[in-house]
Amino acid sequence: MIEARKCARCGSLYISNTEVCSSCQRKDGADLYKLKGFIENQGVDEPLTQGELAMATGILNKNLTRFLGYEEFQGVCVQPKAVVASAEGMENLNGGTEIV
Ligand SMILES: [Zn+2]
Repeated sequence: MIEARKCARCGSLYISNTEVCSSCQRKDGADLYKLKGFIENQGVDEPLTQGELAMATGILNKNLTRFLGYEEFQGVCVQPKAVVASAEGMENLNGGTEIV
């Protein structure tokens, strides 16, 4: 069954199984390329919030939200503050053990 979908980027209606319309697929690809490149350079040592990531990459927050929902970006760069805190806590714990 063919259904018209609303493009996640520009909001125009289109008929396809993809997440965005055909004219936005190229922009999506460019943003994803930018995002992947940034994550590779940034590494996982300094997790950023989504807002920081949006500023650093120039990708719109609403598109970033969509990308970060993808499985390949799970926990790669942007982590919730709670996860960062617990990771730091484990480091401190290890350091403490070494000192003792
Ligand atoms: Zn579009």
